[in-house]
Amino acid sequence: MAANSGPIRYSLVIPVFNEEAVLPILLRRLDFLLSRLDGPAEAIFVDDGSSDSSSIVLQALAVRDARFRYIGLSRNFGHQVAITAGMDAAQGDAIIVMDADLQDPPEVVEQLIAKWHEGNDVVHARRLSREGESRFKRATAHLFYRLLGKMSSVGIPADVGDFRLIDRKVLDALRQMPEQDRFVRGMIAWLGFRQAEVTFHRLERAAGETKYPLFKMIRLAVNAALGFSDLPLRLAIWCGLTVSAFALLYGGWVVVMWLSNDAHLVTGWSSTIVLLSLLCGMNMLMTGIVGLYVGRIHAEVKRRPLYVVQKRAGFDRNEAATAPAKHAINE
Ligand code: UDP
Ligand code: MG
Repeated sequence: MAANSGPIRYSLVIPVFNEEAVLPILLRRLDFLLSRLDGPAEAIFVDDGSSDSSSIVLQALAVRDARFRYIGLSRNFGHQVAITAGMDAAQGDAIIVMDADLQDPPEVVEQLIAKWHEGNDVVHARRLSREGESRFKRATAHLFYRLLGKMSSVGIPADVGDFRLIDRKVLDALRQMPEQDRFVRGMIAWLGFRQAEVTFHRLERAAGETKYPLFKMIRLAVNAALGFSDLPLRLAIWCGLTVSAFALLYGGWVVVMWLSNDAHLVTGWSSTIVLLSLLCGMNMLMTGIVGLYVGRIHAEVKRRPLYVVQKRAGFDRNEAATAPAKHAINE
């Protein structure tokens, strides 16, 4: 029998958006999972503005059973905000975010916890395969993770969604990042700490339909690209430089042709083209430079901490620092 008294050790955060079809199975599986964990646990359901019976069912459950908690958002704020709300309310030493549709199997949670016991602060669950999802979704997800990996300056692990465990100290650091357009998996990668992963086969949705239509996926991808890469900003500069360089080369070639009295030149055409493309290139270049400044502003308004400290040592001593004896250094 698992220990289930004392301070909460594990917090499961589960975003829910119109999931009434899956709730009966989910609750059974959660009940089983919670009874197997090696410490007191809570499951926090974040109702992201559901309009079906999910709200009533989960609210009643939270009143009835002390292991379950319910947070109802005032409207649909989106998955990333919903998991943030759940994590903000979590009391555990380890916080696990998982989907409500059982595509993130509860058994994997135990593997995540095992890795946490080994001393890891962040444990990602990486998908080896994805069942029951359209070819389009699999292909776009594949492309998204590869592209993001190339664009981003922090190592965002590929094929990892939001199914992961984080330690309390990672959550405390995450809560210092108040940015509005959130891409939580990127933010956690940005934070660093000791990271590990477990792998699993992603199953089909247990019931119901996906709550992530194409437009929500595109919004997530745009947030990821804008929040974790400045490549789009630099793109304008490179385009501008390339166009200007071609304009100058073409201009040079026209002058050479003119000097050698080439009869093929049409009067007025070359000068117009050279001027036009040069101006166009300069324009792009200037836009790019403005973009760099906008990038600075963007970085400032995100109000991320400058750095995150993982450990400190030796700061709790009060006596003034005196140089250690010489022989002590030589030892
Ligand atoms: N979800 C949410 N708000 C939304 C969309 C989804 O809270 O606006 C929840 C949903 O209930 C589920 C999880 O986020 O628990 C993942 O959504 P879904 O399974 O529909 O996404 P998919 O697995 O199809 O990418
Ligand atoms: Mg799903």
